[in-house]
Amino acid sequence: MKKYLTTSWKVLYIQLLAHAGLVYQIMYGTMWSWLITLFVFVLCGCFGLVMTYHRLLAHNSWPASPRYRKIGSLLGAYAGIGSPMVWTAVHRAHHKYVDTAKDPHGPEHLGLAKVQFLGMFGQAGGEHIVDMLKDKFQTKLNRNYFKMHLAIGITWLLISPTLFVCAYLAPMALLWEIGGSVNTINHWFGYRNRDNPKHHAYNNPITALLFFGEGWHANHHDNPISYTTKEKWWEFDFAGLMIKLVK
Ligand SMILES: [Zn+2]
Ligand SMILES: [Zn+2]
Repeated sequence: MKKYLTTSWKVLYIQLLAHAGLVYQIMYGTMWSWLITLFVFVLCGCFGLVMTYHRLLAHNSWPASPRYRKIGSLLGAYAGIGSPMVWTAVHRAHHKYVDTAKDPHGPEHLGLAKVQFLGMFGQAGGEHIVDMLKDKFQTKLNRNYFKMHLAIGITWLLISPTLFVCAYLAPMALLWEIGGSVNTINHWFGYRNRDNPKHHAYNNPITALLFFGEGWHANHHDNPISYTTKEKWWEFDFAGLMIKLVK
């Protein structure tokens, strides 16, 4: 077992290209190209990252079919933030060591900028994902993560340079920035429904709205095994609602 798992630095090359693509999209994107970007953002962000990477794989908070686990993992993998296995290891370490010096992306000791832009490169020990290391699909996806992105990128480029930008690069950059903002903003400011000395997480309606309910982050740290982050009637959790519909 590898002692420490971390997202490959090759992911940074993908994301640098993705951010350049997002700038191009902001300058020259049409309404149709933005609709495609939004569609991929919801598909890979909500169904891939939030529902699968986070609430299913990292926390086992809802029962999904083996087929959904694979499809959701692939949708999340498309987002270019690292493989499900590494992300889960780092996220479980985040919960275990939250807001201490051992937190792999704690803004209090690493600083907001580092966590926002490079938080996905946090490290975690393999002991956090003993269950996933036995999963052949997940280990294969982890091993071939960069190759998979090369194949996706080249395929889009051959089909259409416009789709390469609006269906691949732009959504990846948006998911990196908006997903990453949960690690910074939600450990920085907002409100809490109760005092919990174990963490410094906060609820923030802006990140909750932008990232499918993940912004009710104090609620999540209070009760990480719940499939939903919603507590108050007005704390709208889009991903939780989707889980309720598909489970
Ligand atoms: Zn957190
Ligand atoms: Zn979590």
